[in-house]
Amino acid sequence: MKTVGTFAEVRELAVGSVGLVPTMGFLHEGHLSLIEAAREESDSVVVSLFVNPLQFHEEADLAAYPRNIDRDTALAQAAGADVLFSPDTSFMYPTEPRTIIEVRAVSDAMEGAHRPGHFEGIATVVAKLFAGIQPDTAYFGRKDAQQLALVRTMAAELSFPVAVRGLPIVRELDGLALSSRNTLLNNHDRSVALGLSSSLFAACAAFEAGERSTSVLCGIVLDHLGADAAADVEYVSVARASDAQLVDDVDVISFLALAARIGDVRLIDNVFLDPNTESADRGVRLTKPTILYGDD
Ligand code: AMP
Repeated sequence: MKTVGTFAEVRELAVGSVGLVPTMGFLHEGHLSLIEAAREESDSVVVSLFVNPLQFHEEADLAAYPRNIDRDTALAQAAGADVLFSPDTSFMYPTEPRTIIEVRAVSDAMEGAHRPGHFEGIATVVAKLFAGIQPDTAYFGRKDAQQLALVRTMAAELSFPVAVRGLPIVRELDGLALSSRNTLLNNHDRSVALGLSSSLFAACAAFEAGERSTSVLCGIVLDHLGADAAADVEYVSVARASDAQLVDDVDVISFLALAARIGDVRLIDNVFLDPNTESADRGVRLTKPTILYGDD
């Protein structure tokens, strides 16, 4: 695996069909599942590692975001990456960007409502990655379900010839969705964080028993979370998977998503609800505790 910092170098190294896995680094098994899928389906696998300042609206959040390039390099290589694209901010944004991509409607609710500018930052950086790297396929996690809808919409409407794949959420043994931010949780906060996934799973069970009303499903999540006042819930919503529009009833494939602050750490999680199969997709669980977090 080679580590490079410019698009020209990536294009020179990435031959044949190219799979791109965009990340902000501090890799865990969720990221690795995307890299492994890319490895199976592409001749060349490019992993990008860039903590994109444009998608953070809180300075403190950007400053606190965990970083460990040495560990990421070893993990990306072991998972099968050929090229690690790790640009400087000055390469990605040589000037204050004047071209900002806004994906209307898809960005309005949930994360877009609570993180001003977040999705413009993501759409802009992903468009730059698509234009600069020219991948055939790009791999994203359903962990960021609204982001996935946004990237798909952006790629289709700007005619990027890139297939966008969405892969299941990877969870810890106990259900906590893997996130680079989990490393910022202390033991007590981690046990509070477990309430996020377990509340979503309670709603999954109701969905699979026939419940289709958004307000009832969100109520189940809130009741469950209410037992633990330590989680400061920002939203609990159900949205159509294709375009992140909020729905009153789950009659198309949708996701039930939430965001909550636990201490200083903001976490998101979701489950996909499919009325056609009458089943909920809770993601996949690791079979042993993760060993990929934290400092060496
Ligand atoms: P990030 O580094 O947080 O920007 O995430 C990079 C990619 O990994 C995004 O497409 C995320 O949706 C995906 N991802 C993050 N956490 C998980 C997870 N637990 N399971 C699956 N994919 C994930």
